[in-house]
Amino acid sequence: MSATVPVVERVLSANDAVAAEVRARLDEKGIFCINLMASPGAGKTSLIERTVEALKGEIAIGMINGDTSAAAFDAERSQRAGAASVHVNTGGKCHLEAAMVRDALSLLPLDGIRLLLIENVGNLVCPMSWKLGAHVNVLIGSTPEGDDKPYKYPKMYAGVDVVVLNKIDLLPYVEFDCGRFLRGVEALNPGLRTFRLSCRTGEGLEEWFAWLREKARPAR
Ligand code: MG
Ligand code: ZN
Repeated sequence: MSATVPVVERVLSANDAVAAEVRARLDEKGIFCINLMASPGAGKTSLIERTVEALKGEIAIGMINGDTSAAAFDAERSQRAGAASVHVNTGGKCHLEAAMVRDALSLLPLDGIRLLLIENVGNLVCPMSWKLGAHVNVLIGSTPEGDDKPYKYPKMYAGVDVVVLNKIDLLPYVEFDCGRFLRGVEALNPGLRTFRLSCRTGEGLEEWFAWLREKARPAR
């Protein structure tokens, strides 16, 4: 009926092939890589900043930031915090693709990096469909967004390996039922690893750092 569906499938499988290349390169270099996804404003850059500040003395960190424009504020924040950072202008695209990550890798000092944090474009619809070669896909939710997000964006919540709930310091001020949120996550993705934290106050961050230390150990 329409040629659109086969074309889209071809593009996605080409992306998967590049994602496999990216993964092979990361594994060859012993780099553990995380793909961070979230809606705009959930705290991707803040979590990266806090993570780099806390761990840079023990783990060398690289960062790739995808945004829909040339504005490199997020990569600059991460660079200032102490991570070797690359900004990717997706040229208006609402997600990162594996080829963009592959190109960004060539601009990073891979021999000196053990942990690579990828900040995807802020968007809860499509980034999950585009594999990047990361070892772990993380979704950051935040309390002001509401506890209904797992119910409204099931594909994102079902596809990730870890969920981080940020801005728990705002719980007294926003309509957010943690139980409802976590039940929604659990129904889509049973046994999923979850973290509750606040990048602003620091509450809960230690657990996240401990998990990263474990994951980014040289001999994993
Ligand atoms: Mg950001
Ligand atoms: Zn997209």
